[in-house]
Amino acid sequence: MADDARYPRPLVDADNRAMLEAWREGRLVLQRCAECGRVASYPRPLCPHCWSERLGFEAASGRGRIVAWSLVHRPNHESFFAEAPIVLAEIALPEGTNVIARVVAEPESVRSGRPVEIVSEPERYPLPTFRLAGEGEG
Ligand SMILES: [Zn+2]
Repeated sequence: MADDARYPRPLVDADNRAMLEAWREGRLVLQRCAECGRVASYPRPLCPHCWSERLGFEAASGRGRIVAWSLVHRPNHESFFAEAPIVLAEIALPEGTNVIARVVAEPESVRSGRPVEIVSEPERYPLPTFRLAGEGEG
């Protein structure tokens, strides 16, 4: 088991502050544009669809589906070495955007198209993390 305190932490800035603060409470939030109504991820200062600055955050369902995934055998930070291989996936969210996130799962269980759900353990994972839906606790 890795020493969680040594995980690298994301840098907080004006664009991602609301997302990271929600994640500290185990909640996934996404930006929605008040101009065009579309959702985007990752957090940014301008809507990627219409360039509006009128972006606000709203709660996401915390569910999604794996689009594509990769196995990270050699993480770029030593605090993750003991956990390799790590599943890193593109996940389509029902809110209408995709995120890149870790999926806590045995690699042989992971398939494109499988449903996933958020793991509300912000003290363990510095960024929103998913697991295969219907597996593990909860
Ligand atoms: Zn927009």
